[in-house]
Amino acid sequence: MSTTEASSGPAFFDVAVIGGGIAGVSAARAVADTHSVVILEQENELAHHSTSRSAAIFVENEGGPVFHRLATASRPFLEAEHPELDAPLLDPLPVLKVGGEAERPVLEAEAEQAARITSPVRLVDEDELYELAPMLNPEFVSVGVYEPTAASLDVMALHQLYLRRARNHGAQVRRSARVTALSRNDDDWTIATTAGSVGATVVINAAGAWGDVVGFLAGAQPVGLTPNRRTAFTSPISADPSDWPFVYSQIADRTCYFKPEAGGQLLCSLSEENPTEPCDAKPEELDVALAIDNINHLTTLELRSVNTTWTGLRTFAPDRNPVFGWDDSVEGLLWMVGQGGCGIVSSAAAGEVAAALIRGQRLPSSLTQLGLTEADLAPRR
Ligand SMILES: Cc1cc2nc3c(=O)[nH]c(=O)nc-3n(C[C@H](O)[C@H](O)[C@H](O)COP(=O)(O)OP(=O)(O)OC[C@H]3O[C@@H](n4cnc5c(N)ncnc54)[C@H](O)[C@@H]3O)c2cc1C
Repeated sequence: MSTTEASSGPAFFDVAVIGGGIAGVSAARAVADTHSVVILEQENELAHHSTSRSAAIFVENEGGPVFHRLATASRPFLEAEHPELDAPLLDPLPVLKVGGEAERPVLEAEAEQAARITSPVRLVDEDELYELAPMLNPEFVSVGVYEPTAASLDVMALHQLYLRRARNHGAQVRRSARVTALSRNDDDWTIATTAGSVGATVVINAAGAWGDVVGFLAGAQPVGLTPNRRTAFTSPISADPSDWPFVYSQIADRTCYFKPEAGGQLLCSLSEENPTEPCDAKPEELDVALAIDNINHLTTLELRSVNTTWTGLRTFAPDRNPVFGWDDSVEGLLWMVGQGGCGIVSSAAAGEVAAALIRGQRLPSSLTQLGLTEADLAPRR
């Protein structure tokens, strides 16, 4: 491990992590016990973008089999008791993905595939469905995929935990340090930021929606990331939602989800996917109105008003799987991007993947036992 502050040059680290969202800090945590690390974040606070704007749900059966395996492998860390925390990271909250008869074949296939990785995932039919989610309108909703082991996740506590562990091993954080140029000389990077330059042997590109922009600065081909806007909001309700599951509609022209929250309100979304440039995304009223209309159509809830609204970016690679791996043509550049809608749930395993690659080790057995390979995650797969 080496950190140097040579009088003739910038501070030098083994690893420079670009991006202080959940991806960046999870990698920093995993690698900081063997390598010197600096986290470079363009904003003056960490987790300002997607990480602080999620629905905070831990669901394993989401985003396809690769994300499912990463989430399953992350569960032991999320479930563990961490002495630094006052409360557990996970609070049980089953997830119910619902549809009508048109969605039945897709939901049946999904339940069957998901149950091979997380066995409690199963299909539920009418009687049980309405018992689990009494607010559903039987006229439109008749089948569901139930994940009883899902949970609400304290995202900011998790982010802080990763950061604290990284810092305990000496990791440094530079805020308001937007990376503006990357140059490779011999075996090292020189990284210019708006807060001065640093040097590093390895750069981890954990820049979220800006992943391809940072890749371009490093001289790499883009991996083809598309950031997509998604708006969420909270809405007050008169019923007590504390026994309700997280409900996620898969009905094509009636997409939406709602999640019971403390204080007699629901966290809701249209679950839309609207492509955009990387940006500090702001809500659009239409997406909120459409979500309310869809939720009121599929349920007996009669939502009328909104408390708070926010928008974040979910950034996908073309095949919608995460990109965790070494660039094949630019030496010393490790990609950690394309986390889509699963960047929080997959973060513990993602950090371990980054650390294994940096240490020149195989992927952790918790992942290989689930059938995940480096090739599944590689940038040019
Ligand atoms: C509405 C919504 C609901 C969601 N719900 C869930 C959920 O329930 N569960 C789940 O797992 N996921 C969920 N997600 C997805 C999750 O939020 C993301 O996958 C995750 O936050 C991505 O983390 P990240 O660290 O890659 O990105 P970010 O948090 O965006 O971090 C990237 C960071 O890189 C910084 N950066 C960029 N360029 C530079 C540069 N040049 N120099 C320095 N810094 C730079 C940015 O400022 C940013 O802080 C949701 C997303 C949305 C929008």
